[in-house]
Amino acid sequence: MITTVRQRVTIIVPAFNEEQAIEPFLAALLPVLEGCEATWQVLLVDDGSSDRTVERWRSRLAGDPRLGLVTLARNAGKEAALLAGMRHADGDAIIPIDIDLQDPPALIPTFIAHWRAGADQVVAVRNHRDDPAWRRWAAAAHYTLLGWSSRVRITPDAGDFRLLDRAVVTRLLAFPEVDRYTKGLYELAGGRVVTVPFDRPSRSTGQPAQSLPRLVSLAIDGLTGFSEAPLRLLLPLGIGFCLIGCLYLVYLVVMVMIGKPVPQGYPTLLGFVLIFGGVQTFALGLIGEYAARIYREVKRRPPYHLSGLEGAARPASRKEPRDGADEQ
Ligand code: UDP
Ligand code: MG
Repeated sequence: MITTVRQRVTIIVPAFNEEQAIEPFLAALLPVLEGCEATWQVLLVDDGSSDRTVERWRSRLAGDPRLGLVTLARNAGKEAALLAGMRHADGDAIIPIDIDLQDPPALIPTFIAHWRAGADQVVAVRNHRDDPAWRRWAAAAHYTLLGWSSRVRITPDAGDFRLLDRAVVTRLLAFPEVDRYTKGLYELAGGRVVTVPFDRPSRSTGQPAQSLPRLVSLAIDGLTGFSEAPLRLLLPLGIGFCLIGCLYLVYLVVMVMIGKPVPQGYPTLLGFVLIFGGVQTFALGLIGEYAARIYREVKRRPPYHLSGLEGAARPASRKEPRDGADEQ
């Protein structure tokens, strides 16, 4: 196993239209970092914000070499922003953190302590979610479905807030997929994992920037990217329905032969048409999801376009074949 020096930590902060959140975030984060034994840097990844996020961060950047800025040319989503941050981070470990203070910076010293004690991933796990009931329910359903249908065990109630040792980051950057379901990739990247429970507070300012359609699409990516079960379910499902149809036909023939009355008219026919129509549409939709995924992967589009690196953000030393295209 490759062991690295465990000294420098890079905090990666994806931000999309978060001008209001920057000051409270830094006010909470910086005192915690100052109190840590490790050296550190904080990289903000601006994910194509249209407000003054970049200007606000830049004004803080000027006097402090420990702060850095990675700017993406347009909004590429949190997963892509994290990837960009990882590529341009210098630390022996990285910690992705949300800017809205839903990931408490106070946990960082605990992360670092576990890391120094030998953990490769230190994962914050939510005790309770302050989200609306529908969102908690949807998250629970998603993890249960994924747990049943995939060989990869995804830690429920864990997000991106975690410490990742450099060795884990290197493995993460080696995954070639464009659609990055990071939660699954973290599990595949492995290492010695320690979990730390925490209470997730509500957002400090503003509205959630991750919209509902985006969360749904991430959940579908998780299912189609980490489980073949939906696709493989189609075969037994199709065979099952064919068998039912055949048995029903045999039943009708036997009934006619022994002179029993059989149902007349269209209701049975309609029933069958509906069932089979439904199964076929469902099956096609499912295949469509996988086909769309293959389509996105074969196009090999870069997950993001970089438009600038400032302060502590380092140029990527080694170009990963599947990482974002640099415009610089
Ligand atoms: N974010 C981003 N790009 C996006 C959406 C969100 O970089 O397209 C950032 C956002 O600024 C925040 C973090 O990702 O720092 C989490 O976003 P949000 O609070 O909306 O997600 P939630 O807490 O609801 O999961
Ligand atoms: Mg949030």
